[in-house]
Amino acid sequence: MDIADIRELYQDVILDHNKSPRNFGKPHTHTHTSCGHNPLCGDTFELFCTVDGDVITDIRFEGSGCAISKASASMMTSELKGKTIDEARHLFATFTNAVTSPLDSPVDESLGNLVVLAGVREYPVRVKCATLAWHTMQSALNQSQTASTES
Ligand code: ZN
Repeated sequence: MDIADIRELYQDVILDHNKSPRNFGKPHTHTHTSCGHNPLCGDTFELFCTVDGDVITDIRFEGSGCAISKASASMMTSELKGKTIDEARHLFATFTNAVTSPLDSPVDESLGNLVVLAGVREYPVRVKCATLAWHTMQSALNQSQTASTES
């Protein structure tokens, strides 16, 4: 997909997810959690995952931040629910690559709905806003590795 096709969708999708974030609010139970902070912008989110075996059965977030950080967290949680930890890590790598690639390079369509967020390439100072939720997710899942080696 071309960045020009994304440009039109970008603002609409960000506004929609910012106004009605999906999976927002702390769940009653969770197995993994992490808090992420982006000091450049002041975005702070807490992420809660429930992992059963190696599948992320629930993933939610709360906190506050700019429209991009919130929309990214909303879209990420929608995309990762039901995925395995390996799939989540793979998507993290693909996503990070997509938002940090040169402006006119093609966007990996395996990202599905997330391709829209590659529009952030046009706003380099906001890339950290878009990746905050993803780094927080990685950090939450890494705690599971520690937990599993101990058990
Ligand atoms: Zn931000």
